[in-house]
Amino acid sequence: MVGKLIILGSGTSTGVPTLGCDCAVCHSADPRDRRLRPSVLISAGGHNILIDTTPDFRYQAMRAGLRSIEAVLFTHSHADHIMGMDDIRPFNFNRSQPIPIYADAGVLEDLRRVFRYVFSGNEYASAIPRLTAHAMQGPMVIEGVRFEPLPVMHGNLPILGYRFGPNAYVTDFSSIPEATLQRLRGLDLLILDALRHRPHPTHSHLANSLALVERLQPRRALFTHICHELPHRETSALLPPGVELAYDGLEVGIRLDDAAEDGLA
Ligand SMILES: [Zn+2]
Ligand SMILES: [Zn+2]
Repeated sequence: MVGKLIILGSGTSTGVPTLGCDCAVCHSADPRDRRLRPSVLISAGGHNILIDTTPDFRYQAMRAGLRSIEAVLFTHSHADHIMGMDDIRPFNFNRSQPIPIYADAGVLEDLRRVFRYVFSGNEYASAIPRLTAHAMQGPMVIEGVRFEPLPVMHGNLPILGYRFGPNAYVTDFSSIPEATLQRLRGLDLLILDALRHRPHPTHSHLANSLALVERLQPRRALFTHICHELPHRETSALLPPGVELAYDGLEVGIRLDDAAEDGLA
């Protein structure tokens, strides 16, 4: 099966421009320097699978011309990754079944707390997104695509990256355990957090992500969760072949051919 991945947002938690900032990137005329909060969409077989619902989700969905959402996966429960969850509600209007969401048990608990009204059972059905929560404890086939949760460390917080076919989305990490690295070798497409040039306690920085690419040898690497310290054009010129800064709206054709692995399909 072939599909498509769209970068809905390539920015760090504040977005770029950053509010109140007068730096050159925040004032850049290059559309690739305008970065909404981090999220990707995977489209395959007419189904749309979203990873994370950012505070910018509504605008990201309009900009991408999105007509439906069949499933949502979450990486972790920081605000820049969950706060748009209510905005998937209109996608309930044209389907009878709730929209399934997938995350680890701790993140589902956070979602139930932050969006208590959604899960309380007291609201009118049309007033809330209708969701079914699924704990992601291992690889699962979601809308015909096999998703494998891959633990990574975001500072002290264990969060999930996801592998789907020979592709992976690994945002918000500062270190990657060996077992996860084994699952990230030799992919077609590897999307990695690369916040800025300087090291950061909870995010990967450019040199660290470049070293990972060198080690993991993907065919193509995209860096995301980018802050205003990395101008798109100048930074891109520093990157080796096969490595690019992601930008909002970027679409990549992907292969999704291993759904039968582990007998899950
Ligand atoms: Zn983040
Ligand atoms: Zn985070």
